Amino acid sequence: MKPPAFAYYRPETVQEALQLLQKVNDAKILAGGQSLIPMLNMRLARPAAVIDINRLRELTEIQEYPDHLLVGALVRHYQLMESPLVRRFAPVVAEAERHIGHAAIRTRGTIGGSLSHADPAAELPLLATLGDWELHVASATGARVIPAREFFLGYLMTALGADELVTHIRVPKATGVSRFSEFALRAGDFALVSAAVSLNLDAHQKIDHLRLALGGVGETPWREPAIEAHYRGSEASPNLWTVIATEVADLIDPPEDLHASAAYRRQLARALLEKTLAETAADARQTLTKGGPAS
Ligand SMILES: Cc1cc2nc3c(=O)[nH]c(=O)nc-3n(C[C@H](O)[C@H](O)[C@H](O)COP(=O)(O)OP(=O)(O)OC[C@H]3O[C@@H](n4cnc5c(N)ncnc54)[C@H](O)[C@@H]3O)c2cc1C
Repeated sequence: MKPPAFAYYRPETVQEALQLLQKVNDAKILAGGQSLIPMLNMRLARPAAVIDINRLRELTEIQEYPDHLLVGALVRHYQLMESPLVRRFAPVVAEAERHIGHAAIRTRGTIGGSLSHADPAAELPLLATLGDWELHVASATGARVIPAREFFLGYLMTALGADELVTHIRVPKATGVSRFSEFALRAGDFALVSAAVSLNLDAHQKIDHLRLALGGVGETPWREPAIEAHYRGSEASPNLWTVIATEVADLIDPPEDLHASAAYRRQLARALLEKTLAETAADARQTLTKGGPAS
């Protein structure tokens, strides 16, 4: 199918894009187009205008600051996978990027587009939730910062206003060892369920930092800081990973669709979380003993 007719704008600067967003009614931002173009072609989206932000060079860089990376919204998936800064300071992002679609999709799709699209099965919203990323958002009348856990409101729904543009994403440098796993029916498909863990152990093999997040088990990425706090100070052991994964699997309320039943998704969440906890703990032990992760 072909999309319905729309007006097309191609601003050269962020300022110009923000003015267009304020002035033009019913406009959609076009970044990599890997989600928007299929939605236009299938007529699931029918905006009156499209504002193509691909010429906004201000949004294409990854900058390093003492405790975080500032990633421009137009940074593409493949850049996140290959960037030495991302590999060094947020290696779980580079790891997860390998699972996103195929090479052509990773060449065009952007971090800002992926977060703004807010698919609950997508990798970057999950990592944003795990890593407490912050979205820097601007409009013609001002700017604000939205923590990732307040950004995702529901299935394909975010806290973004119609006149707002995500300009940058603040990605804190990793303080724990992090790992990511997912299960998809075919390579390149969206995951049925994904899991991400961030963990540190103290010298006595006890947990001193723990974060857990799941994707594909609800309308937004799942994370529950009260559970993380509960297990701080616990001794790391395979039995503990089973206990945590079972508790989390009992808490979530996964959806049912033509790809998987709710019970299957719950079982996947339990298995992936247990596996990811064990792998992260193995890396964390290596960090303690040899001063570096296993892989
Ligand atoms: C076959 C296929 C397989 C895929 N598999 C995966 C997968 O496994 N995992 C995964 O995560 N993704 C997958 N994707 C989606 C891909 O990652 C997209 O790149 C991503 O979801 C959207 O990024 P984009 O830059 O292409 O955004 P676009 O498609 O251009 O835009 C998406 C939405 O975000 C809005 N938007 C874009 N940029 C901004 C901004 N800076 N500020 C505010 N709003 C903005 C747009 O208006 C639109 O509503 C797949 C896509 C395809 C076609």
